[in-house]
Amino acid sequence: MKSDIYYSGLNKGQSRADCLDILLKGIDGYFSAVRKGSFVGIKMTIGDENSTGNITPDLAGIIVRKLKERGAKPFVFDTNVIYSGQRQNSIDHLDLAYRKGFTPDNLGCPYIIADSVFGTDSRIIKVDLEKIKEIRVPSMVGILDDLVVLSHITGHIMSGFAGSIKNVAMGMASRAGKQIQHSSIKPVINSDNCTLCECCIDMCPVSAIAEKGEKAFINSETCIGCGECISACKFNAVNINWHEDMNIFVERMAEYAHGILSQVKRKIFLNFAFDITDECDCIAGDDPRITEDKGIFASEDILALDKACYDMLKGENDIFSRNGEKAYLHQFEYAGKIGLGSPEYSIIKL
Ligand code: SF4
Ligand code: SF4
Repeated sequence: MKSDIYYSGLNKGQSRADCLDILLKGIDGYFSAVRKGSFVGIKMTIGDENSTGNITPDLAGIIVRKLKERGAKPFVFDTNVIYSGQRQNSIDHLDLAYRKGFTPDNLGCPYIIADSVFGTDSRIIKVDLEKIKEIRVPSMVGILDDLVVLSHITGHIMSGFAGSIKNVAMGMASRAGKQIQHSSIKPVINSDNCTLCECCIDMCPVSAIAEKGEKAFINSETCIGCGECISACKFNAVNINWHEDMNIFVERMAEYAHGILSQVKRKIFLNFAFDITDECDCIAGDDPRITEDKGIFASEDILALDKACYDMLKGENDIFSRNGEKAYLHQFEYAGKIGLGSPEYSIIKL
């Protein structure tokens, strides 16, 4: 069955706020169903320190106002990440958020790090999926009735394409849940390229990398597959075995998203196709944009939404392909198989 995708294209000379306003009028039915007094979580990421492409506070603030008009109690939230940097604990994370303008004044509501100061608020919820039998999530998952997911469409160092599925699967898992999803990604060092600069050794959160014969060496028994060393290496010396692990990684993400969303009654997903970079907002900085801005998409079907965005953005040469690999195609197929949503859709242009 085809799912509806609402699409507000960014017209020449139009502001992004106007583009969002048009979209919100088209999906008014979702907001009308939000009950007075309901706590509504708005999931999004602020990106890393140097990221410039993330969804901005003014756009999130428009959605906050819309929810407040319904008498709801919205809050914007994210979780801590598993790699080092400004979002590994809530203190640094909040400091970064405020510096990037995600303040209560600008948003119109609090910005909350859902998994506590050190990312240890990790509740286990049983699910019955093929690979994932339990999810580890902040304790508010399972209590929230309403969820709005705001995702910035980008490429991604592992899955190739990042949209709502990744935002929910990784971004709504606790740090332990993130590690479980990553855990089959075991990179290897290409010693020909390694200069032993030691950046990866310093960055590895579990000390899985050591010097061996004047090169870095990864102990695959210790490695948790977080991918931090891949972004740390400036010499292209950390390689992923794409053929072995990537499909399992995207399957885990699809199952995690399924498990998390099964705990929420009402949810809607908005994908922002602006400032699309090859890397996600954790890494991209002010990287060049890989395609033109398109607009904003929304749906109650997370799979249909990501698939529609991908189809509209990929272009003739598939801009999201990495080394010829297209793990996201497997993710779409697998997500459909497990009932996360429908890969078929109809676009309603607003
Ligand atoms: S970051 Fe790259 S070059 Fe530096 S030690 Fe690690 S693998 Fe070698
Ligand atoms: S060696 Fe493994 S655990 Fe360490 S940074 Fe790389 S992927 Fe993460």
